[in-house]
Amino acid sequence: MSVIPSFDIRAQYQTLAAELNESVLSVLQSGHYIGGPVVKAFETQFAQYIGTEHAVSCNSGTDALYLALRALDIGPGDEVITAPFTFFATTEAISLTGATPVFVDIEPDYFNLDLNQLEAAISERTRAVLPVHLFGCPMDMTRLMAIAQANNLRVLEDCAQATGACWAGQKVGSIGDIGAFSFYPTKNLGACGDGGMMTTNDPELASRLRILKEHGSRERYFHESVGMNSRLDAMQAALLQVKLPHLDTWNVLRRGVAERYNQLLAPLEAVKQGTVKRPSAITGGMHVWNQYTIRVSQRDQVRTALQEQGIGTMVYYPVPLHLQAVYASLGYQPGSFPVAEQVCAEVLALPMFPELLSAQQDAVVYALKDVLSL
Ligand SMILES: *Cc1c(COP(=O)(O)O)cnc(C)c1O
Repeated sequence: MSVIPSFDIRAQYQTLAAELNESVLSVLQSGHYIGGPVVKAFETQFAQYIGTEHAVSCNSGTDALYLALRALDIGPGDEVITAPFTFFATTEAISLTGATPVFVDIEPDYFNLDLNQLEAAISERTRAVLPVHLFGCPMDMTRLMAIAQANNLRVLEDCAQATGACWAGQKVGSIGDIGAFSFYPTKNLGACGDGGMMTTNDPELASRLRILKEHGSRERYFHESVGMNSRLDAMQAALLQVKLPHLDTWNVLRRGVAERYNQLLAPLEAVKQGTVKRPSAITGGMHVWNQYTIRVSQRDQVRTALQEQGIGTMVYYPVPLHLQAVYASLGYQPGSFPVAEQVCAEVLALPMFPELLSAQQDAVVYALKDVLSL
């Protein structure tokens, strides 16, 4: 059992316990468990927060990505460009539509898709780009949108780790054609179970998303396409309604934790020598630090030694997607995307959550310093 966990999911509940309990009880008493006024109200509240005309709720971030691709009419024979350094759900959604994921390497500072390499990956079959705002760091959406528009590509933003992040003053998820969000408990806005949301300014896309998430039907028992059952529970919506007004405060706290890590790590010999690299906060946007991920050589040994000192860390992600067994048929090799491959061998996510105490952070850095000097 870690003395300092990589994420403490109970801390947030404790600060809002009375309100959260009350919200669940009111749903229990209302009899509206699926759909209904609470889900509608949360969709409206979320659309306002992100700054889009529409927000359509669904069952998970994975479903949000899949439904969005379907609404954009992406399917067999199409290619969708994305990064190989992300959670599997990003490309799983592409593959589920029958389309082919096409990878572009990441850049090493922000761990996001390298826009210098994007245009070279566009083919006659490319229909969309799927940028991931990884670890809460927004992509340069100005440049990405310019490339997409010049090449007639749709843009689906994977905002699962970046609820509340901004690029050039706009929230991520409001810039591309559709934004896909996850409310998995460890995301910046987390439910107490699964949940997801799709945001868009296009009324036609919003309508398609609503049809697809409800068995391809506009009107119950009349089906115009093959959709799925993907709904946000009223109970999750009620909990999220209580939490959303606190998200900006939590994101400010996350930024504070990240800045403090940067300062505490700066004097370390390993940082000065470059064997430990701190993550960069992109200029032009607001990073919301779902993860604070350092790069360190001998990562696995460092991780084990930290664990022995009671410091919980995580590895997001150990294997890049182009080298996953499931994608062997795509024909990528070790060496296809050198930055993503190197980063997978070096990344280590330090404890990061809004309630992390300064004393706990000091202990993390103290232990890291100790471990690195061995
Ligand atoms: C969590 C996550 C998802 C999937 O969200 P779920 O709600 O767990 O289905 C997709 N993409 C990224 C980058 C994620 O981190």
